[in-house]
Amino acid sequence: MLDADFFRRWLTTAAAAVDREAERLTELDSPIGDADHGSNLQRGFTAVVSGLEKEAPDTPGAVLTQAGRQLISTVGGASGPLYGTLLRRTGKALGDAAEVSEAEFADALRTGVDAVAALGGAAPGDKTMLDALVPAIDALPTSFAAARAAAHEGALATTPLQARKGRASYLGERSIGHQDPGATSSALLFEALAETAEEAAHE
Ligand code: ADP
Ligand code: MG
Repeated sequence: MLDADFFRRWLTTAAAAVDREAERLTELDSPIGDADHGSNLQRGFTAVVSGLEKEAPDTPGAVLTQAGRQLISTVGGASGPLYGTLLRRTGKALGDAAEVSEAEFADALRTGVDAVAALGGAAPGDKTMLDALVPAIDALPTSFAAARAAAHEGALATTPLQARKGRASYLGERSIGHQDPGATSSALLFEALAETAEEAAHE
């Protein structure tokens, strides 16, 4: 079972990964965006972590809902509302249970990813974060490690795609040949999730 502490650790690990990779995320956002994806997420996840330090919610649903609200209110770019919606809607779907099973979490995360697709109007193949998120949630019922691998593969597979949503879509065919920054950060979130699960299993 997964408790509030598991989700706090996931988000803290994700924030550290975002810090470590911020420069690379911003570099990916240079040729097909406005070179701010790394700094956008750094600002957002720093706020998430300090929010969780100030006030530690005691259910998985409340941890994710609070984190989602922080992302929405601190990140100006497209990714803030999208990732914020992902976490907030996932949290809402988890309700107020003190612990949730991996299967319940996988179901809730699917609700969150559906909400991202509805908000942004994108589908897999449009060269967005959904190209990593959708394969990851499809693999999540197998294992956290399978979801991490699927997200990573999904992010790499955005390179040959032409962007149909977001800022990169303004470039038309010139968006081809570049890995999508949002799909890359989504892969980081699933890497952090797998790491957190591995650490929890060793305790
Ligand atoms: P902005 O594009 O406003 O500068 P960011 O640079 O932080 O915001 O985030 C860009 C990423 O957001 C893209 O790489 C893409 O993955 C994702 N994105 C943009 N628009 C959409 C959308 N409509 N649906 C899903 N993801 C999107
Ligand atoms: Mg940008």
